[in-house]
Amino acid sequence: KRPSSETIKRAERFSASNYLPLPIVVEQSNGIWVRDPEGNRYMDMLSAYSALNAGHRHPRILAALKAQADKVTLTSRAFHNEPFAALCERLAAYTGKPLSLLMNTGAEAVETALKAARRWAYRCKGVPAGQAEIIVCEGNFHGRTLTATSLSSTAGYRADFGPFTPGFTMIAYGDASALEQAITPQSAAFLMEPIQGESGIRIPPDGYLKAVRELCSKHNVLLIADEIQTGFGRTGRRFACDHENIEPDLYVLGKALGGGVLPVSAVAGGPETLGLFEPGSHGSTFGGNPLACAVALAALEVTEDEQLAERSRRLGKTLLERLRGIKHPAIKEARGRGLFAGLELFEPARPYCERLMELGLLCKETHTHTIRFAPPLIITDAELDFALSKVEEAFAAS
Ligand code: PLP
Repeated sequence: KRPSSETIKRAERFSASNYLPLPIVVEQSNGIWVRDPEGNRYMDMLSAYSALNAGHRHPRILAALKAQADKVTLTSRAFHNEPFAALCERLAAYTGKPLSLLMNTGAEAVETALKAARRWAYRCKGVPAGQAEIIVCEGNFHGRTLTATSLSSTAGYRADFGPFTPGFTMIAYGDASALEQAITPQSAAFLMEPIQGESGIRIPPDGYLKAVRELCSKHNVLLIADEIQTGFGRTGRRFACDHENIEPDLYVLGKALGGGVLPVSAVAGGPETLGLFEPGSHGSTFGGNPLACAVALAALEVTEDEQLAERSRRLGKTLLERLRGIKHPAIKEARGRGLFAGLELFEPARPYCERLMELGLLCKETHTHTIRFAPPLIITDAELDFALSKVEEAFAAS
């Protein structure tokens, strides 16, 4: 068995340094728990950025993976496969949107939604060729492709990656009047996260989602909700948009859809947008492959059958109450919805994440100052209580 230190050294020597992982090697996992090669046990409070809502190696999802692996794993979309049909049908029931377009990563699904919106602008709204505009928010995170980078406001994500994709207008997040001012006859869509995740669990003011929905409808602009991180029960509802009972024109989905096993992403919408893709206009070799679809179908079944959204809503109250109860001069604010919370500090959060790791809790800072807490939604009351006692201990000791 290789010791952790050796694995870390090899990874650092032979890989690009585009991440700064905590110094832990995860060798085994089960549910909310992981182990390193030395046998130490840790609770996963990050869930691979919400991709592990059902926990590590959920038995139903693994069974679906294994059963499908014994039949067929890849057909490409040159041929049909049954799990693809089953997943699209199930997604229609879950999202309330009649059509889906399946991709692999979140960033690809974002690109897909942007392509759909531009087509809609030219073919339905009548925007002159090449002039479609998409409105985005400061502090957004929609992935790392060149277009997702082009619409980012974060300097470190953009530095020396230009020239960028044109056609984006940036407005303040959480400010509906800024949206109204930014809308022009060329506006195709407003792309937003109903809660900004990477930006530090930023929750918009009450009424914002309703207001942007109304503005988009009034001005004939598509509303695209990136629910890649917030979807599938993470915030205590099916989607974060449900907190204000609004329905976007397009949902962008990923992460937990893959059951913590495979990358599976999707755009869900209606025929007025997704119906604009004719054969050959978009695609992906692995998008909609039978192995991924079987896994995603099982992940959706687990999400519903185990009532993960309800669990997240109930336990999220405890999470936020206890975080708010911690009194420490370094703490600026605790905020959250469901099992999706951020503890913003006045100082860098990294040393606190390292201390939490020593106490057996795996968390990761986001945007330098915020510790994100996003445990698998299968966490029990007792396990959450244990986790919070460790967080309290980490702050009591410093
Ligand atoms: N959109 C949001 C809101 C995200 O949180 C992420 C990933 O963190 C993405 C898009 C990109 O997803 P992926 O890393 O799968 O490309």
